[in-house]
Amino acid sequence: MGSDVRQRQDYDLFVIGGGSGGVRAARIAAQHGARVAIAESSRWGGTCVIRGCVPKKLLVIASRFRESFAAATGFGYEKVTPSFDWRALVAAKDRELTRLEGLYAANLDAAGVQRYAARAELIDAHTVRLHLDEGVRDVRANRILIATGGRPRRDARIPGIELARVSDDMFDLETLPRRIAVIGGGYIAVEFACLLRGLGCEVTLLHRGDVLLRRFDADLRDGLLEALQAQGIAVRLQTGLRAIRAEDGARVLDLDRGNAVTVDEVLLATGRDPATAGLGLEALGVQLDGDGAIVVDARSRTSVASVYAVGDVTGRLPLTPAAIREGQAFADSEFGDRIVEVDHALAPTAVFTTPEIGTVGLSEAEARERGHTVQIYRARFRPLRDMLGGNPQRVMMKLVVEQGSERLLGAHMLGPEAGEMIQLLAVPLQMGATKPDLDAVLAVHPTLAEEWVTLRKPVA
Ligand code: FAD
Repeated sequence: MGSDVRQRQDYDLFVIGGGSGGVRAARIAAQHGARVAIAESSRWGGTCVIRGCVPKKLLVIASRFRESFAAATGFGYEKVTPSFDWRALVAAKDRELTRLEGLYAANLDAAGVQRYAARAELIDAHTVRLHLDEGVRDVRANRILIATGGRPRRDARIPGIELARVSDDMFDLETLPRRIAVIGGGYIAVEFACLLRGLGCEVTLLHRGDVLLRRFDADLRDGLLEALQAQGIAVRLQTGLRAIRAEDGARVLDLDRGNAVTVDEVLLATGRDPATAGLGLEALGVQLDGDGAIVVDARSRTSVASVYAVGDVTGRLPLTPAAIREGQAFADSEFGDRIVEVDHALAPTAVFTTPEIGTVGLSEAEARERGHTVQIYRARFRPLRDMLGGNPQRVMMKLVVEQGSERLLGAHMLGPEAGEMIQLLAVPLQMGATKPDLDAVLAVHPTLAEEWVTLRKPVA
């Protein structure tokens, strides 16, 4: 029976979603010799390339020049007041995204993957329906991989919520708003608050919780809050959004605490939901969890034998490197010659605020909650550049170390290039390095990074 079913299929693998996870899985499966097809309803590259990591980082880079121009005067340059052209930035960003999208499509073609520009849905455990421009077409596959990602959440219970933008909209605004309210306390909210402020907007950050970036180390959270306020972002915590009204072209936000806020635009960054709607999953019996994410095991298998899922749609770790790893592991396990399971622990991450956050491993609070007795090493200082440049912000670098074994449990940084540094520091953490291992390394002087190997005395 099994081989009969196999012979009747158009493909060995059909991938739904041409983003980080889907593209990697499709390419690798094809390289292992499978007959592979992929459907994408929007643009090749998915969220990360088109409306996530890449365009966001370009805007972050753009937003940081202003501070550099200001700092330059401390180094003998005459004061410059640069003019900034938002449309020119959007156009440059678009050129880069088009280039990247082309690379994604070309790489799929080079691997021999059949591409369909279509929305896809599941009809049964082996049939995918494609909604092509020229009409509907059903194709059959031995295995189906769902890699449809996530979508920005909109709380439909809030009156006027349709007046708000979501992150998808922010990269193509006709003009930069003079005043904007950012709603949310997660990484997308704080990143946009900072980059918009850096580009010259008046920013109000509203969050119904009592802290920003809840799961991050408290020293990172406190330091970031201070930095946001120092750069003129009005942060209002424990403040929920009740309604949005349009008034004379502006947006008025009614809040559950304090005065209403009037702005030109509202950015809703209150989380993302797995993109499972309209895929036919319920009818097929694919199990979803309470958040609507597809339930998978360590090998990305769903509750239906021929159906698999990777990336944001599974809600495991909604970041590009996780989606890519999961796609690669799926393809190697199902079409290669080895079983691979992805280890999501110890994932280093960055938050591209200004100042930037880099973090890996356990926060101090998590380490204590898990019963570790810990020693904390921490440095707070002003970098050399800012001594002349005038920026009063201090860098924070922190190690969480297990007492006794001296094993590194976590590393956390708030400051320039924190993302770059934490990527490298994740290597010794993954290898199980100890504090004495760091101490044994000679410093590179004068750098910020040398602090990681010169933290001498625990502060707690
Ligand atoms: P996606 O990349 O979302 O791809 C899914 C694709 O499926 C989409 O292209 C969609 O059009 C397509 N699709 C959906 N339904 C269908 C259907 N029925 N038929 C056909 N196609 C369909 N991660 C980081 O690691 N670092 C960052 O700095 C970072 N910044 C981010 C900033 C923002 C503003 C956002 C929104 C996300 C950011 N992320 C970041 C997260 C990252 O983009 C995602 O984790 C990653 O893109 C997930 O990959 P994926 O393959 O699961 O899904």
